[in-house]
Amino acid sequence: MKEEYLHHLWKNKQIPFHQLKLSTGEDIIIYDVGQHNAFESGPDFSNGKIKIGNVTWFGNIELHVKSSDWYQHNHQFDRAYDNVILHVVYIHDQGVLINNKPIPTIELKGLIPEMEEVLNKHDFPCSTFLNELDSIYLESMKEKAIVKRLNKRIQNIEKNKIDSTPQQVLYSLLAQAFGCKINAQPFQELTNRIPIKLIKKEKYINTKTIFFNVSGLGDTELVDKSWLHLKSKYNLGTMSKHIWKHKGLRPKSFPEIRLLQFAEIVDKFDFETSFIYLDSKELVVYLKNLLETKTNSSKISNAMVDLIIINCFVPFIWWYGNVKMDGSIQEKSLDLLQFLKAEVNHILKKWKVIGVSCINSYDSQALLEIYNEFCTSKKCLDCEVGNKIIYK
Ligand code: SF4
Repeated sequence: MKEEYLHHLWKNKQIPFHQLKLSTGEDIIIYDVGQHNAFESGPDFSNGKIKIGNVTWFGNIELHVKSSDWYQHNHQFDRAYDNVILHVVYIHDQGVLINNKPIPTIELKGLIPEMEEVLNKHDFPCSTFLNELDSIYLESMKEKAIVKRLNKRIQNIEKNKIDSTPQQVLYSLLAQAFGCKINAQPFQELTNRIPIKLIKKEKYINTKTIFFNVSGLGDTELVDKSWLHLKSKYNLGTMSKHIWKHKGLRPKSFPEIRLLQFAEIVDKFDFETSFIYLDSKELVVYLKNLLETKTNSSKISNAMVDLIIINCFVPFIWWYGNVKMDGSIQEKSLDLLQFLKAEVNHILKKWKVIGVSCINSYDSQALLEIYNEFCTSKKCLDCEVGNKIIYK
């Protein structure tokens, strides 16, 4: 239980006023809860209006989790509290005197839901307040969440990279993006076994053959001259077939298909970083063209193209900007997201139900991060939206 939660309920009149009685058993009527003093010192609410018996009172109202907090906070020494007409507490554990007279007290325990209960009840405890809140707070939280998400990607890149050249980092990220969540790890292993510098150095290799043979996905080894040459020159082994997953995937997303598509892109892309210096609009066009495959059998869908940009190029540019200590490069990651369509999944549908929609993948990525990192673990007090609701 937090005092801010009590402030929120009192201010928004989410208290069963008809059930209220003073701790002495007397009836009380609340005509006006008063004005919230969120930022000034002194009592929590001013200009309240209440009636006890036949007498109507005007003055300040103070809220505490426990009535003994009055003394813990040293209000007995502060004359600003002399005009408190009502003490609203969650637990009444001690009588409080002002000028030797007991202050009228209401105990809320049993009358309001526990804060923790409210937080745990819904996916989004803030949902009922979002409409009345300035959208600036959710926007600001989205920006914070996107930065957090991309910084986590930097940590992952740093942890997993086998070679710090931007070419290898990009190549590995691209492979993982082709693998999506389910086959990211075998795709990454493949790029560790066949580094990009090997592919670009050995000009006459057949990339598809090498990938198939090393991945272990093929039933039999595809044999050609260049493969036999490379196999012995680089001592290339074969991965276990079983680390590749097919379950839950549509046939067009099977790793065999994704591997073909990946090989086609690897053949036509030099993995140099000069593309980063295109302006943001040109960059999107460039990347979409790059990810177009020629053969119909291996055509990459538009949704997959967007996903590859989101999961490979966006974090790569963010990482590269960080390495170069150049914020303007990192900004391009955020720009790129604004040009891509929002994803659709069950989490984003939940946001939609509470009235928060996505225009582009900047929105969807930010909302996914907020949901996964804040909403599900009920870190509402660390969230700018929750914080504003509690403290407004
Ligand atoms: S973490 Fe923020 S967005 Fe999520 S439910 Fe709490 S207040 Fe709402």
